[in-house]
Amino acid sequence: MLINTSIDIKNVVETLNALHYELNNRLAGIQNDLSRGRSQDSQEQAQETENDEVLHALAADARKELIEIDNALSRIRNGTYGVCATCGDIINPERLAAYPMAVRCMDCTEK
Ligand SMILES: [Zn+2]
Repeated sequence: MLINTSIDIKNVVETLNALHYELNNRLAGIQNDLSRGRSQDSQEQAQETENDEVLHALAADARKELIEIDNALSRIRNGTYGVCATCGDIINPERLAAYPMAVRCMDCTEK
């Protein structure tokens, strides 16, 4: 099995944990916004509904990213981090630096 030796795993774990923390905070903020009181005014209510839709979309994005982070952390634990899930090749360290949750190498992502 290939191991991507060009990555600083400790550094990646720190980055992922920091990102996880930030996303959890963001998610808590969104949920806080969503649980706020509702206006009595129907026009304001329409605006609130629109805002809620945006907030729900943001929350969904944050949750998706949290799952990706968890997956990346478990790949680190089982030693498959930094190795492409499709072709088994090593993922470019620059790609991982830009996107630490990357599961596939550039070639396989583009396919
Ligand atoms: Zn690949």
